[in-house]
Amino acid sequence: MNIEHQLAQAKKVCDKRGARFTALREQVFTLLAKHSSAVGAYDLLSELQAIDPSAKPATIYRALDFLNQQGFVHKIESINAFVMCDHFSECNHPVQLLICDECGNVEEIQSENLDLAIRSMADASGFKIKHQVVEAHGSCSACHQTDI
Ligand SMILES: [Zn+2]
Ligand SMILES: [Zn+2]
Repeated sequence: MNIEHQLAQAKKVCDKRGARFTALREQVFTLLAKHSSAVGAYDLLSELQAIDPSAKPATIYRALDFLNQQGFVHKIESINAFVMCDHFSECNHPVQLLICDECGNVEEIQSENLDLAIRSMADASGFKIKHQVVEAHGSCSACHQTDI
């Protein structure tokens, strides 16, 4: 999916929800979409500052929060970075990420079995899941191939 297409789709989703996709949020979205793997908030901030020198950490965090709430990006808590959602769906899908500690590549997987397992455990203890993110760390196939 190219960036323009992603952006157009994001706008459509926001319109439907009555969420404001401001110029700044659009800019952050575009910056993030240019990265194929996860990006730290401060890396995005310096990229944004190249366009808008007045951008502050709070600016980027607020924009990223918005994009995260809308389900366009996923926050990777363990490395404080963000990645575009592969599925770009309107639904609030469970998030399962494979994070390569060597090259920083992040692959998004969707296992219904894993989701079901967590949900049934939660149900059994009367817990209601609002949001779940599974983060698995390791090395990707490209990285451990170079080890050999
Ligand atoms: Zn996703
Ligand atoms: Zn790797």
